[in-house]
Amino acid sequence: MIDFQYARANDVADAVRQMAADPTAKFIAGGTNLIDLMKEDVERPSRLIDISRLPLKTIEETADGGLRIGALEPNSDLAYHPAIEQRYPMLSCAILAGASQQLRNMASTGGNLLQRTRCYYFYDIATPCNKREPGSGCAAIKGRNRIHAILGASKACIATHPSDMCVALAALDAKVHVNLHRDEIVTAVELPARGFASNYTYLKLRDRLSYAFALVSIAAALELEGSTIKEARLALGGVAHKPWRDTAAEAALRGQAAEQAAFMHAADLMLRDARGYAHNSFKIELARRGIVRALTQAARGTPQSQANKNIL
Ligand code: SF4
Repeated sequence: MIDFQYARANDVADAVRQMAADPTAKFIAGGTNLIDLMKEDVERPSRLIDISRLPLKTIEETADGGLRIGALEPNSDLAYHPAIEQRYPMLSCAILAGASQQLRNMASTGGNLLQRTRCYYFYDIATPCNKREPGSGCAAIKGRNRIHAILGASKACIATHPSDMCVALAALDAKVHVNLHRDEIVTAVELPARGFASNYTYLKLRDRLSYAFALVSIAAALELEGSTIKEARLALGGVAHKPWRDTAAEAALRGQAAEQAAFMHAADLMLRDARGYAHNSFKIELARRGIVRALTQAARGTPQSQANKNIL
């Protein structure tokens, strides 16, 4: 680990001012990803600007019936907040599917958005990695790529975004607020009014149930009129460089009976451009079955339990 300076930001303006003054500085909040990256020599900041005491921990109602979540709200507090549990239970479930209780206690909402990929080669400075060192190559494309992308990958990088929380946020159409300045800081995440609190699930498929990143995860939310789908949201985690949403698959569900045939068609649409590499082609079928299972759970109103992670 390298030597670095430590400074505290007094307010949001001070934080961006300090960041603008030092291009190799980094913000630190919970530190659950950055400290690991510094230990592995992947990140080498000259200065850590501590933003953890800024007043960005509030959850407020918005004028249009949604919620505004401060960027420093800890993941645990957000997951167990009564307004999130009652109005956005899919978000609560997605957060509780991620990491461990100790990590969720430390990790912030903004930090969760900004966490880096868990690609093994990104963390191993002895190997080429375009994301860590642009132009050096990608060790994963011809190396071990079991956890890598099947959708939206580029020729330069096939890494995935590791968050669970962000998959639910994408499905809910959340907006990220930033303080626009010469350098930026995330100040809040805004949820629209519609929370899909009746018919939803967050299904996470992983190597071990206790604590692991998703091989594939699915946020599925439906609004039903009788047994007909009025509105559908579908987002995948663990398969692309960002939470993967496909409006064509959602549109195909609207107006259909909430039955397996429609779910299978949506899964086919969602995965129509999927491409596997040497060790991760299994993810395509896993995602297909996971989408159908998640939509079935959502339609039945039997969301995946995060206390008992056995799949329903
Ligand atoms: Fe680096 Fe991306 Fe390749 Fe992983 S997949 S080695 S992060 S360039």
